Amino acid sequence: MKITLISVTDDITAFGLRSISSYLKKAGHSVRMIFLPQPFYKGQLSAKYPDNIIDEAVNLSKDSDLIGISLMTNHFERAVQITQNLKKHFDIPVIWGGIHPTVKPDESLEYADIVIIGEGEETLQDLTSKIDELHKVKGIYFKDTSGKIVKNEMRPLICDLDTIPPPDYDIEDHFVIEGNKIYNMNVPLFRKYLARTYKPDTYYTMATRGCIMNCSYCCNNFYSRYYSEQKKFRKRSTKHIIDELKAILKKFDFIKVIAYSDDSFFSISFDEMKDFCIEYKKNIGMPLQIPGVSYWNFSEEKLKLCLDAGLERIRLGIQTCSERTNREIYKRNVSNKKLLDIIKTIDKYKSLMEPPMYDLILDNPWETDDDIIETLTFLIEIPKPYHLSLHSLTFFPGTELYERAKKEKLIIDDLNDVYRKYYCDFKRNTYLNNLFLRFWLWNIPKPVEKLLINKTLISTGLYRVTNLMINFIRLIELFFKGLKSLFRGNLSSIYSYLLERINTYRITKSLYKTSRKTAKK
Ligand code: SF4
Repeated sequence: MKITLISVTDDITAFGLRSISSYLKKAGHSVRMIFLPQPFYKGQLSAKYPDNIIDEAVNLSKDSDLIGISLMTNHFERAVQITQNLKKHFDIPVIWGGIHPTVKPDESLEYADIVIIGEGEETLQDLTSKIDELHKVKGIYFKDTSGKIVKNEMRPLICDLDTIPPPDYDIEDHFVIEGNKIYNMNVPLFRKYLARTYKPDTYYTMATRGCIMNCSYCCNNFYSRYYSEQKKFRKRSTKHIIDELKAILKKFDFIKVIAYSDDSFFSISFDEMKDFCIEYKKNIGMPLQIPGVSYWNFSEEKLKLCLDAGLERIRLGIQTCSERTNREIYKRNVSNKKLLDIIKTIDKYKSLMEPPMYDLILDNPWETDDDIIETLTFLIEIPKPYHLSLHSLTFFPGTELYERAKKEKLIIDDLNDVYRKYYCDFKRNTYLNNLFLRFWLWNIPKPVEKLLINKTLISTGLYRVTNLMINFIRLIELFFKGLKSLFRGNLSSIYSYLLERINTYRITKSLYKTSRKTAKK
């Protein structure tokens, strides 16, 4: 069969879709992949594609027997746009897969012909041979001839990840947006897209799938309930992982860093970690980046193994240091003492790696100022330097927090309040959120930091004065940065900064208008 797989996410690593492609190719199908990354920020709330891009994607797909589109919630409108245009031109079955169709199958079937629930490799392969007997394919929902939604039996998670070949990087069968056109992928283009990630020339992959935790805001919260009887966390064998890396390095000799984007890489056992690290050091020996570190899977012994293998950066999910929020809202049973112990352990090895990255979630409507101050107080106590990855709490469908937010009418309109919300766009204009940035980016003496979060300062409204002072210093800082760029002739950085400010202003204004309109309704 000829199959076209379309990725509408902003990240061309698209691990899931590439795995499906490899799986289908192994079964003898011909697969073409089209990557349509389009940054979600930069003033584009819905970030739809220009007409000519849609026309080109439609044209490229015209000889397909099946078209698969993988999407997350934020890319819903793009998937709708492409699907509607594909349907306008031909009658090829369009299948949606990914986390959004999995948690919102009924809504997805308003546009797609078939929806894959859960992991797609086995389901799509099964579907290719039973396209006229859809009721026999486990793990799909579809509409029958009367328009009624048929919900087939669920397909279990794939237990043995080694049955899936490594992700498809046969770039000759791949296409990607570049400027205002879609081009055949080539090495310079591929490299250019990789450079958009944290570090240029980094190869991103995954060694595991799933997570045993079920934090109330995370997609694993849905999976833990949906697959309640199954083992959620699964790992590829070391040989499978190393073979993938060897093949990739042979193909793309410019790769200099290997990064894992697993949900919980550190959940593998000590012995598995040891095995991986020994083989990695022996066969790959490149700088290594690992996120997926959490309070419940961290151990100093595993960290030491990774450092010996070349670990250059670690990323720890903290989310909040309000023990109440962690316990009562996020379902994360962790004390600040435990978090502090982990951070101090990481700090012991700071000379061997880059400053660690800590994930935090802001804009939680159920957090009080006291909760936020608890997190800021924690930041004052931990060793610097560190990087913060700050997110705005987003109520993704399928999670417990989505249901709670719906019930409490915090979500009035899914499209505007959730799908179009960019989870990195936290509110920058609140005093306490501003302090997260300042504590991270400025070297403020501890006593001053403590003063800035003084409760009297906040309750009496005096914080407005300090906020003004902070913003004034920020303005001066920006002025000198701009001046420096001007003297260096680096006009592009000034232009990018101004563009970003204008776009942020546009987004905020548009969100404000939308929420006012919705509130009026
Ligand atoms: S530990 Fe991380 S990946 Fe696991 S459920 Fe919580 S947020 Fe999700």
